[in-house]
Amino acid sequence: MPSQQGLPRKRRRKKTAKASNNLVGGRPDPLLRTHPYLIRESARARRVRLKYTLDNGLLVIVPRGYDTARIPALVNRENAWISKAAAEIEARRQELENEPPALPRSILLRAIGEERSVVYANGRASRALARETPDGVKVSGCPSREEAAAALRRWTARKARAALPPWLIQVSAERGLPFARIAIRSQRTRWASCSARKTISVNQKLLFVPALLVEYVFIHELCHTVELNHSPRFWKLVARHEPDFRRLDRELKGAWRYVPWWACEPGKGELNENHWLRQREARRDPV
Ligand SMILES: [Zn+2]
Repeated sequence: MPSQQGLPRKRRRKKTAKASNNLVGGRPDPLLRTHPYLIRESARARRVRLKYTLDNGLLVIVPRGYDTARIPALVNRENAWISKAAAEIEARRQELENEPPALPRSILLRAIGEERSVVYANGRASRALARETPDGVKVSGCPSREEAAAALRRWTARKARAALPPWLIQVSAERGLPFARIAIRSQRTRWASCSARKTISVNQKLLFVPALLVEYVFIHELCHTVELNHSPRFWKLVARHEPDFRRLDRELKGAWRYVPWWACEPGKGELNENHWLRQREARRDPV
């Protein structure tokens, strides 16, 4: 289900990315007229997906045991889409190089319907600090752009620890689906997950998405306390608690666009300041 969500950790691990054999000196093979790509085998994938990311370029994600000999033709067939995705991402890369995104003047926490303006103050604190004042959020400590962003992330974490546990407890009680523990984390690619011990790990970035979607994430994970898989039985249970789950699930996949760049830890990973690009990853099933 939501690609950002929850199977037990063991099954989630990504597998080998190996260079494809149409990679000729990092350039498309003129004979194949396709782009270079990486193949990633995924235990979770049920179908082939094409994904274009800033970090990796074109990724072909295949289910375990997929016959990779079929990939060149598949990529070739999708050439038009790939060229478009590549051009978009390249344009965005140049934009970012010329003009890194600015620190926010205001923060919208859609999940809890709060909006805060942000002011930045110079100061002599040893570490940048973001705190809430009656006027909004004040970031002090003479921070650099990155330090200020980190301070805002710590502030977000505090907000999440205050807002999300009582909410999950309430949904759990309403639905009669008990869980053992909640952990607030800042996962890079998942909104939440549920462990065999019924610990629900919730992404603090959920604060940025609409409440309806947060509610769905909670229901989804609470259903995993009963069915720790994505079997038809699991979905039946989800449907009982949220009949509109298909639409919500789809929306959730695109909900990373609500997360501002500064809320994502820098460095490699699916989510950095360019993460929104990944929403454009067309997910095709050309086979
Ligand atoms: Zn799930």
